[in-house]
Amino acid sequence: MDRALIDSYKRFLDEGKTERECVSRTVELARAKGFVELCEKDSLQAGDRVYFVNRDKSLALFVIGRNRLEDGMNILGAHIDSPRLDLKMRPLFEKEGIVYLNTHYYGGIKKYQWVTMPLAIHGVVFRKDGTAALVEIGEDEEDTALCISDILPHIAQEQMKLSAGEFIKGEELDLVVGLTPEGKEDEKDRGRNAIMAILKERYDIDEDDFLSAELEVVPAGRARDMGLDRSMVLAYGQDDRVCAYTSLRAIIDMESVPERTACCLLVDKEEIGSVGATGMDSLLLENITAEVLAKCGEKDAISIRRCLRNSYMLSSDVNSAYDPQHADLYDRANSSALSGGVVFSKYTGSRGKGGASDADPEFIAKLRKVLDENKVRFQMAELAKVDVGGGGTIAKYCAWYGMEVIDCGVAVLSMHAPFEITSAEDITSAYECYRAFLTL
Ligand code: MN
Ligand code: MN
Repeated sequence: MDRALIDSYKRFLDEGKTERECVSRTVELARAKGFVELCEKDSLQAGDRVYFVNRDKSLALFVIGRNRLEDGMNILGAHIDSPRLDLKMRPLFEKEGIVYLNTHYYGGIKKYQWVTMPLAIHGVVFRKDGTAALVEIGEDEEDTALCISDILPHIAQEQMKLSAGEFIKGEELDLVVGLTPEGKEDEKDRGRNAIMAILKERYDIDEDDFLSAELEVVPAGRARDMGLDRSMVLAYGQDDRVCAYTSLRAIIDMESVPERTACCLLVDKEEIGSVGATGMDSLLLENITAEVLAKCGEKDAISIRRCLRNSYMLSSDVNSAYDPQHADLYDRANSSALSGGVVFSKYTGSRGKGGASDADPEFIAKLRKVLDENKVRFQMAELAKVDVGGGGTIAKYCAWYGMEVIDCGVAVLSMHAPFEITSAEDITSAYECYRAFLTL
């Protein structure tokens, strides 16, 4: 196990709790390893290291190879968005003495897991003049804490009869941010006003500025080693920053000039279907690749088609780790063990592989060879038993170009929970796997 890698991974998680934070941290790490912004270069040669930031929420990094780009790239693609609660457009309200911020959850969550724990707000608010306030509340232990309340067990008889999907409703996920102050009883909204005055003081924003904001409510606290043996990592947002970080490190740690151009793609919105201009179901990859091709002097209209079709890709995303406490949900032989090595999934999807991207066996054979040559431990797994459920990743949007793509990432226990569990061994394997892949 690579302890230095694990420690730097935990730091990346602490510094990147939103997509925007991940992008800016990534840019810092890449620049420190000799990457420059694509627009700083007029033309590109083998060995050049460049990155392209897309709307501050997704980005791509490239190490230009010796071969023509038309011959294809080796692409590592991960997502940097994670399940969370987003503040609504008009979030602030006050109800009988308590002031709240209203949220709309993002991605697949078990709503009951998000109450009665310290939460933090991270994000950005744009004022009408175009200037931005970077917001972070409740993260630092010295700072004040934020939380969503729940009812006490003594009077929860009716609540406890409801199914887990119902007993905390989406509309009840309101963050407690203050109490209505005493005095000035005739002043309307005096609790709201008091909270807005604090936000004005702290960030110079007005209530209307919430209209142009991206404020994300995430679990407060740092990533930590887990277990008496420190064999695991406990942290928020490991789906999919565990693969994003190891992919990023694989490309920035490249020392020699590769045959095929290496690319690391970190995208947004995977958790809600890869939608929008910063998600994978867009022209993002195609547009960025076209820019790179032009600077490499490959300007034929057909070049972009050939480049993407001839590419290899690891859709670097997490898998559901086998959980002995819920063994009946898994087919043991086809599930991923914690510390069993990096996980490949030939296909994802659910109920008869619906919505899956299914990798070609020719490609898998090629990967097995390079993994064995580099002594990388790996396992092959599905998310769970047939018909138990399932999910998708960014793989299918890349397969659309005709490239070879397979899902490959780290096994996670309690995936999508506020704090997720991974194995330090597996994180190390993923890094080694991604490094080996880039030499394909
Ligand atoms: Mn994921
Ligand atoms: Mn996910």
